[in-house]
Parts: sequence; structure tokens; C-alpha cells
Amino acid sequence: MDKAKSIEEIRLIPDIIGEAGIEKDLRVNPEVLSDLLGDKDLRVEEPFFIHYEVNRRQDAFHARINIKGKVHTNCSRCLSPMGYPVDLFLQSDYVPAPPEMVGELEAQRQSADTGYYRREILLGQFIVSELVLSLPIIYVCSDGCKGLCPQCGTNLNEGPCACTRSADPRMQVLAQFKNKL
Ligand SMILES: [Zn+2]
Ligand SMILES: [Zn+2]
Repeated sequence: MDKAKSIEEIRLIPDIIGEAGIEKDLRVNPEVLSDLLGDKDLRVEEPFFIHYEVNRRQDAFHARINIKGKVHTNCSRCLSPMGYPVDLFLQSDYVPAPPEMVGELEAQRQSADTGYYRREILLGQFIVSELVLSLPIIYVCSDGCKGLCPQCGTNLNEGPCACTRSADPRMQVLAQFKNKL
């Protein structure tokens, strides 16, 4: 297994991909991922693994990519530490860029299904953009996370707090009733 110094730099030379295609396993160090994500709230503690296979059909290529790893963060509702597993499967065709196409090839994609190449297939750039897009904007430890009590800060997943009871409208009616006595 090869070590990838950066994901963006993963490029393939079409001329050296034969009829049998190519297949590769890469291990990406946590620091490389942390730098890439550039978000201090997202921690990467274990390596990511990238597996790719590229097959050739005349001058068109088909890439299949699997990315596995984990990011660590805190639940946005209850603030508890949580892990978010990444298990992404990507596929893309690569066809020769038409001569009139200028500038960054990955920026000219019309969809995730088809990319363009000139002398190199920019597999890494595709992986980076799809990986970043696959991550949630808000991390929640579970769909049913009850969060923290806005008044006392108790983690309501661990049980109700004293405020829950006094905020109950039935209890307020009862309190008013008692005051009148
Ligand atoms: Zn939570
Ligand atoms: Zn409370």
C-alpha cells in the first residue's frame, strides 16, 4: 500500500493505463486529511484509505473509487464527542477534453459522472471535492438526540433535569391553583 502525501496530487497518466486497467490502494495520514478539511472542529485521528480502479475503453476511462475513514467532532445539539464514519463510493467517466475547452478541467464538469482529461486524469481533485461535499454541515450524534436543557445545561439524553418539570404547563396551572388557596 502506498502512502499519499496529498489527495489533490493523485493523478494518472492515461497513456500508461493498459487494457487491463489499474488498481491501487492508498493510505492517507490523519494530518493530511486535517489540513485538507481545514476545520478546527473536525479532528482526524486515524488514517483514511482510498482504493481506486480505473478501466480503459479506447480513449475513455472509467474510475471507481472507495474512500473510508472517520472524522471526530462534537454533536451540535448535546456537545458530546462523536465519530462520523466516511464510506464513500464514487464513479466517474473521463473523456478527452475537447480542444476548445480551456482552464481547470475539474471546474468544467457538468456532473459527477463525467470528467475530462488532457495529459493527466486529475483523480485527486475529484476525490477532494466529492469528499468535502459528502460531509454534513451540522453533525448530530443521533436523530433522536435531545440536546442540552437551555436553562441548566443538563444533557437531556441522560435523563430529564429539574427544569423540565417546572416548564410543564400543567405544573404551572397547578402552582397558580395552589397560590389561590
Ligand atoms: Zn447529541
Ligand atoms: Zn434544565
